[in-house]
Amino acid sequence: MACDLKAEIISVGTEILLGNIVNTNAAFLAEECASLGISVFYQTTVGDNRERLLESMKLAAGRADLLIITGGLGPTEDDLTKETAAEYFGVPLVEDPHTKERIKLFFQRLGRSKIAENNWKQALVPQGASVLDNPNGSAPGLILEKDGCVMILLPGPPEELVSLWKSAVLSYLQKKQNGVIRSRIVKVCGIGESDAEMLIKDLIRDQTNPTIATYAKTGEVHLRITASADSEEEAFSLTDKMVARLGERFGSNIYTSSRDVTLEMAFVDLLRKKGYSLTTAESCSGGMLAGRIINVPGASDVYDRGFITYSNKAKEDLLDVSGETLSKYGAVSYETAYEMACGAARNAEADVAIAVTGVAGPGGGTAEKPVGLVYIGVFVVGHVKAFECHFPGDRTKIRAYTVARALTLARAEIMALSD
Ligand code: ATP
Repeated sequence: MACDLKAEIISVGTEILLGNIVNTNAAFLAEECASLGISVFYQTTVGDNRERLLESMKLAAGRADLLIITGGLGPTEDDLTKETAAEYFGVPLVEDPHTKERIKLFFQRLGRSKIAENNWKQALVPQGASVLDNPNGSAPGLILEKDGCVMILLPGPPEELVSLWKSAVLSYLQKKQNGVIRSRIVKVCGIGESDAEMLIKDLIRDQTNPTIATYAKTGEVHLRITASADSEEEAFSLTDKMVARLGERFGSNIYTSSRDVTLEMAFVDLLRKKGYSLTTAESCSGGMLAGRIINVPGASDVYDRGFITYSNKAKEDLLDVSGETLSKYGAVSYETAYEMACGAARNAEADVAIAVTGVAGPGGGTAEKPVGLVYIGVFVVGHVKAFECHFPGDRTKIRAYTVARALTLARAEIMALSD
């Protein structure tokens, strides 16, 4: 069975401390540790200051076995993480010829024949450190071990951190653990977090191995199932039995059991399987729905065009919404959403159309039509429905919820017609 590693995440950078950037690295690392069964009890953020970083390292090493430190590995004067780690371990910095060569090749690939002097600083590593090649940047990742304390240093830019984590750190940590921890993610849409928890209350109450954790996302809920065992096969057999039980509870609300699949990917995949083409007609979401669809590689298989119809005139001109409907019921109404969906499908010659019209705020709300009121029209091969929705939050949140709900409703309508 797995041993209980305790980790602490240290984020280095004055810009994080001052709130200039959001600490997405810490969120990523904490989630990854959780999925490996590694407990994270503390997270620290420290500015680009050698003394305070050293202090943080000492404090963390006193209460954790594993220190994951991000940022401050770059070539500039204020990048001090490597130097401070070397000081903490009492070792000098030495040149790593392999990294020097890699840095040369990295800059050559970028078409830069002249390499600034300070970039060579990145080829210096604390003596005895394991070097992790960074495919997306010049600063390597580093692992240092001494007296039971492991320190992993990773570059600050998130795309570098994530790729290094996946290519090198993950397998290192899995080996380090005495046993295997594996997790699966089941993603559910069309049901809120508390309702989702109620549906599996007994499974959560009785959980031991595997464990289940729910995470509320915008318009969806993710369930992480984590099992520990002596082998990968055994761990996955435990998670997969639970995935099957969740399938019985959530049915078609589950849109994937794959970590990397998003709601829009699952939706595009469903359209492709059905051989349906899609169009969108957006008012308050202003292209966000189309944006999410086009996030999916290969979306052109199903998506040819969409409409952004913010004004009444645009709704009339591009979607043939009748002037009478607009004046009688208003732009934010069941009737308008319905006609938008029909007009979009007709004018784009699409099998499926999703239409969105709502009050995203902060102004424009009335007692009758408050901020957060959104109507979503769905056309699927001649079957049309419109739905009234109410979303909380500010303009950004309301628009994001709208798009998630629109995808969820369209998916449900397509699936209901196939039954
Ligand atoms: P570089 O080689 O680019 O200098 P570095 O390891 O020195 O990398 P930093 O200089 O600390 O990293 O940060 C570089 C950039 O990476 C920051 O400006 C920021 O955009 C991003 N970044 C750093 N730390 C974080 C973090 N914890 N969360 C999200 N983004 C971060």
